[in-house]
Amino acid sequence: MSTRVEQFIEGRRVAGDADGAIHENVNPATGERLAEVSLDAVASAEAAVQSARDAFPAWAATPVGERCQAMFAYKQLLEDHFEELASMIVTEHGKTKAEANGDVRRGIDCVEFACAAPSLMMGRSLPQIAVSSSFCRTEDEGGVGIDSAVDRVPLGVCVGITPFNFPIMVPLWMWPMAVACGNTFVLKPSEKVSMCAVREVELACEAGFPPGVLNLVTGGPKVVDHLITHDDVKAVSFVGSSRVAKHVYQTGSAAGKRVQCMGGAKNFMIIMPDANRDAVIDGVIGSAFGNTGQRCLAGSVAIAVGDAAEWFVPAVTEAARGLKVAAGDEAGVQMGPLIDEASRERVLGYIGTGADEGATVVLDGRDAELPATGCFVGPTILDHVRPGMRVAEDEIFGPVLSIMREDTLDAALATMNRSPYGNMAVLFTESGYHARRFQTNAGAGMLGINVGVPAPMAVFPFSGWKDSFFGTLHANGDDAVRFYTEYRVTVSRWM
Ligand code: NAD
Repeated sequence: MSTRVEQFIEGRRVAGDADGAIHENVNPATGERLAEVSLDAVASAEAAVQSARDAFPAWAATPVGERCQAMFAYKQLLEDHFEELASMIVTEHGKTKAEANGDVRRGIDCVEFACAAPSLMMGRSLPQIAVSSSFCRTEDEGGVGIDSAVDRVPLGVCVGITPFNFPIMVPLWMWPMAVACGNTFVLKPSEKVSMCAVREVELACEAGFPPGVLNLVTGGPKVVDHLITHDDVKAVSFVGSSRVAKHVYQTGSAAGKRVQCMGGAKNFMIIMPDANRDAVIDGVIGSAFGNTGQRCLAGSVAIAVGDAAEWFVPAVTEAARGLKVAAGDEAGVQMGPLIDEASRERVLGYIGTGADEGATVVLDGRDAELPATGCFVGPTILDHVRPGMRVAEDEIFGPVLSIMREDTLDAALATMNRSPYGNMAVLFTESGYHARRFQTNAGAGMLGINVGVPAPMAVFPFSGWKDSFFGTLHANGDDAVRFYTEYRVTVSRWM
């Protein structure tokens, strides 16, 4: 029998709830059983919130520079354990080693950004905003000066709920900035990659964050619902599918929490006839098939404008056919497996649906030469996809690229902007005019111009639109500082 993934409460690993449903974590490339994850660990969630609540007053009162010393130490520990963490991602998630390295590196960027909390948390002040003469008249009888200042203060216990597809990075979008700002935190990672998350949190405690400042509880919907409605929780950050994002946003908001929810996506890439062809193929292949299509920033639909399809379709098909699909730690691998068997079934189902709806399957991942074990699907390209087809509208979250055709950039933009999602959009062109028109009219929060994956950077807010985001303040950048702090304005006069 495989071991149970532990909870991390009060600065140490604890066994947690023994009862309730479990999720079996399996290496998606080999089928090897890795560990069991408790899904219904509500008692552990309660203990984690209490631990975070009790730790909050002392942590909030710790000078921010001191809090950041632990963050600096943590950044170094992540560097020291880089290989270990990346290898855990390959085993538990199935990413290629290069993709796993990117997951850890982009996460470390967020820790570095959080190290700047002393500057980022600074308030503002304005002396002498008024003069009061109503009560006493000193200062040469002209009246007493009134000063005003705004501080940023921590909220209390914050909760983070994360998806499977970036096991190390997405939790690091949340808790380092929350904790650097003086909050305490409970992380509920995806049950599918909980082992990576436990190690990430354990290293933080080695770095010197006091017990209770950062806790982790595994679980599924019951645990999430307990956390997001808990009286002692002040703020909730969520990343995952739009269906769950909406549920967490509505439930958390109704319970009076500050909530930010990053959701799912259906991302379009527009290919203009004048685009640099090598840049297009490189960018589209990386966007559609990188991380096996399991990115919220995966390019899922390419719209070829004018006669671009004539060169684009054969070139992208040839490049996709040449991708080496294998276990993430194999030499030369370019695409790994999907996260689990259910995902493989879903993606295979979408390929069938596309064909049934009238798309041309120019590259069929069902027929690809694939490893004998594991949740693999080969790169797939569906051509002549039209608006209204499910493969044009649903988030497939797998290595399937749909190709549409439009006569003009404006028609392509109109097709793209009909999507209820708005996470990212990409344009390939050599024309500044077209680039500017795209930048002004694309209905998505992250835009790439000749860049296949306009990835979030720690210093900028990461902004999906429409059904890809529920809330006001986004992840990362100054939005994260704003999200994890409250303004306190003091108006003072001294007689
Ligand atoms: P998911 O929505 O299934 O799960 C996300 C989290 O919610 C997990 O921790 C899970 O345990 C929990 N959860 C699942 N069902 C729940 C329910 N009914 N009630 C309460 N909690 C529940 O997402 P996933 O499959 O892990 O991740 C893939 C999705 O995440 C994709 O849709 C992808 O686009 C999205 N994503 C978005 C971003 C972004 O920044 N916009 C980033 C990464 C992933």
